[in-house]
Amino acid sequence: MQKKPYIISGPCSAETEEQLLNTAKQLVKYSSINCLRAGIWKPRTRPNSFEGVGEIGLQWLKNAGYETNLPVATEVANTKHVELVLKKEIDMLWIGARTVANPFSVQEIANALKGVDVPVMIKNPVNPDLQLWIGAIERISQAGIKDIKVIHRGFSSFEKSAYRNTPKWEIPIELMRIFPEIPIICDPSHIGGNRSMIKAISQKALDLEMDGLMIESHIKPDDAWSDAEQQITPKKLGQIVSNLVVRHPEVNNTELKNKLTTLRNKIDGLDEEIINLLSTRMNIVEEIGNHKKENDITILQAERWKKIINDRKKTAKSLGVSEGLVQKILKTIHEESINIQTRILNNKKAE
Ligand code: PEP
Ligand code: MN
Repeated sequence: MQKKPYIISGPCSAETEEQLLNTAKQLVKYSSINCLRAGIWKPRTRPNSFEGVGEIGLQWLKNAGYETNLPVATEVANTKHVELVLKKEIDMLWIGARTVANPFSVQEIANALKGVDVPVMIKNPVNPDLQLWIGAIERISQAGIKDIKVIHRGFSSFEKSAYRNTPKWEIPIELMRIFPEIPIICDPSHIGGNRSMIKAISQKALDLEMDGLMIESHIKPDDAWSDAEQQITPKKLGQIVSNLVVRHPEVNNTELKNKLTTLRNKIDGLDEEIINLLSTRMNIVEEIGNHKKENDITILQAERWKKIINDRKKTAKSLGVSEGLVQKILKTIHEESINIQTRILNNKKAE
C-alpha cells in the first residue's frame, strides 16, 4: 500500500503575522497537513515586486508553527539566510529553483550547513538539467546533511504552454530511478501556475509514486502579494487532499497478477520487436548514406521528409495512435538517421 502523501502547505509568502497565523490555523482545521511553509525572502523574476518580509517573518513562522503544532519550513538562498534560519531553529529549509540553477550559491549554502543536522529540500533547477539537480543533491549531501528531500516544481521554457513551468515528468522519474531512497515531493502550484490545475497535477504525482505534495495556500488567495493565481484557500486544500486517490503499487490479487504478467510479457516482446525494426531501419539508412556519398547527394531532402511525416501521421490516425506521438518518435529517428549519414559523408570517399 502506498503511504499517505506528506503534505506541505502555506502561503507563497509570509505577508503579515496575522495572514500567516490564520492560514496555518485554517490549514489544521480543514486538513491534516504535515508541515507549514512560507517564503520569507522571495526570489522574484522582475524587480519592484514584493521581495518578502525578511527576517521578521521567521518569528511569525515560528509562532504559527507553535500555535498549530506543525513543523515549519522556509526557503534559503544564501549564507545569511541559512544562519538566520538555524538561529531561529526553523524545522526544515528548502533551496529554491533559481538558486539550485547556480552551483556557486548551492555550494555557499552547503558550506553554511556543514555540521548541522537540519532537513533540506532541494527544488529542481529552473532549467531542465538533471545533472544540475543531482549536483545540488551531492553538494548538500557532502556537507553532511542526512535528511534530504527533493521537490519537483517544473521547468521554465520559452514555448507557450498551459503550465507555468512544464512538468517534464521524465526528469523527476529519472531522478527517482537514480536515487530511489530520496523522497520526492511534487509542487503542483508552481508547475500549474493556476489553481484550477492543482488537483490534476497532484493526482498525477501520486500515480507516479511521488511521496508528497507542496501546495501554496492563503486565507485570501486573490489578495496574495505573490503568486495569487495559483494559491488556494485552506478549505480548498482540504477538499483536494481528501479527494486524491492513493493507489497502491503492488498487486495482491493472483488472477490480476497473472493477467498483468501476460500483458507485460507482450509489451516486452513488442519493445524487442521495435528495437529490431530500428536496427533494420538504421542499416538501410547506412546503405542510403553510402549511395549519397558516392553520388554527392545532400543528406536532407526537405520534400521527402515532409512526405514521410504526413504519410505516417495519416497511418497513425487511421490506427487510432496519437499523431503527435508518431511525429515525435519520427523526429527522433530522423535525427539519428541524419547523424549516421553525416558520419558516413564525412568519412573518406571509398576508393
Ligand atoms: C516558492 O516555493 O514560493 C518558490 C519561490 O518556488 P520556486 O523556487 O519553485 O520558484
Ligand atoms: Mn510561490
